[in-house]
Amino acid sequence: MNQEPTPPQNLDRYVRQMRYAPIGEEGQRRLLAARVLICGCGALGSVIAGTLARSGVGYLRIVDRDFLETNNLQRQILFDEQDVAAELPKAIAAAAKLAKINSQITVEPLVTDVDYTNVMELTDGVDIILDGTDNFETRMLLNDVALKRRIPWVYGGCLGGEGQSMTIVPGETACLRCLMNDTPPPGATPTCDTAGILAPIVNVIASLQAAEAIKLLSGNRQAINRALTVIDIWDNRIRQVNLDALAAGNDCRACKRGEYPWLSGQRASHTAILCGRNAVQLSPSGRAAVSLATMAHKLQGVGRVTHNKYLLRLAVDDYLLTLFADGRAIIGGTDDIATARTVYAKYIGT
Ligand SMILES: [Zn+2]
Repeated sequence: MNQEPTPPQNLDRYVRQMRYAPIGEEGQRRLLAARVLICGCGALGSVIAGTLARSGVGYLRIVDRDFLETNNLQRQILFDEQDVAAELPKAIAAAAKLAKINSQITVEPLVTDVDYTNVMELTDGVDIILDGTDNFETRMLLNDVALKRRIPWVYGGCLGGEGQSMTIVPGETACLRCLMNDTPPPGATPTCDTAGILAPIVNVIASLQAAEAIKLLSGNRQAINRALTVIDIWDNRIRQVNLDALAAGNDCRACKRGEYPWLSGQRASHTAILCGRNAVQLSPSGRAAVSLATMAHKLQGVGRVTHNKYLLRLAVDDYLLTLFADGRAIIGGTDDIATARTVYAKYIGT
């Protein structure tokens, strides 16, 4: 880690945190020099980003593929009604809010989907990866890249009133694939469509993730939680599942054998049905920048078109098509991939 000297007055705001003995001034300086990737800035990512910004983690790279909707505000605490009205991508709205919270740190917002083509670049130079995603395909990709680059990462996930968290330190702990060899088949697990989600469990799990990051980044690796934590905030259950035997006794394809099929692209998909959204994301193969202004001009008369610097929105028939500058689109109004592809091809082209 690069440790740049920080003027003493800059540390005043962290005085309560530095007074906590395991952190101290030395730990605080480490936090200020640390670089973090927050992958997904919805419910978990909001809490993680806000907590780490306030704690003085010096550099936050925030990646999110989505834009804001009113029904996000129930649990995504960085955002407000003005952000929704401005039709902002979550990463952009998050960065603006974080700059108001702590102007002394650097926040790099990126509006893109994390996939095998960009994950190496996105993880360049970071000390830790925090999981704010909502799907196991991306988590398997994060697990692969973290093991390959030997970067610690912290898994978190919530559904209904239950949540889980696990800290993965390559070479030391079990990994996500020790726990589950593959992504659950479609339809095998409940989704936030069917199970809903309670805000408090998100705050609990994201806080655990942020605490693990603060431990690792402040030089307190021995303090991390090596168990899988499972909490049900409604049924009042808290479990710590010891993973030592699992880590020692299995022949994990990822952390023992070094097979990374999500990172190599073997397991990549170019479409995703977005959880709880009645929407499908389409990612054209090979990223190509799109001129949103040109496209907006072209679509005048087709339907209701708005655009800003980050995205274009077309309301046509029963669909709401959102096109991002990297060529990705989210088609709202359907959860059928074929229908979404048809809508994309009809208005944006192939
Ligand atoms: Zn493993």
